[in-house]
Amino acid sequence: MSDLRSLYQEVILDHNKNPRNFRVMEDADRSLEGYNPLCGDRYVIYVRMDGDTIEDVSFTGSGCAISKASASVMSALVKKKTKEEALRLFSQFHDLVTGHGVGGNEEGLGKMAVFAGVSEFPARVKCASLAWHTLKAVLERQTTAVSTE
Ligand code: ZN
Repeated sequence: MSDLRSLYQEVILDHNKNPRNFRVMEDADRSLEGYNPLCGDRYVIYVRMDGDTIEDVSFTGSGCAISKASASVMSALVKKKTKEEALRLFSQFHDLVTGHGVGGNEEGLGKMAVFAGVSEFPARVKCASLAWHTLKAVLERQTTAVSTE
C-alpha cells in the first residue's frame, strides 16, 4: 500500500504540473462545465466525437491538484475509446474512489488505479470524480452544467 501511496503522489504531482490535453478545443462537438462548490474546482470538458468514438477530448479550468490530475488522467484514458467503454471506465473509477473496489480488475485501469487512495478521504472523492461526472454528462448530451452538490 505504501508503494501505491507514493505512486499516487507521484502521478498526481506529475499530472497537476503537466496536465495532459489541457487546452480549449476550438472544433469540439460538445463541451460542458463541471463545478465542485465544496472545493472550488471548476472545469470545462471538450469532446469531439467520430460516430460513437471519442476522437478527441480536452479540458480547461482550475482547481485543486487532485481534481486537475484526475481530469488529466481521465482525458488520456478515454481518448479513442467508444462512449460505452468510457462510461464503463467511469463506473470502475467511481467504484474505486468510493472504496467499493473493482473486483480485482485494477490492471485495466492503468494510472487511474492510483486514485484508489482517495477513498480514504471522503471530501476528496468529489474532487477526483468531478471530471468524470462532467465527461459522462457530455457523452449523454446533457446541456446543463454539472455540479457535485
Ligand atoms: Zn478539489
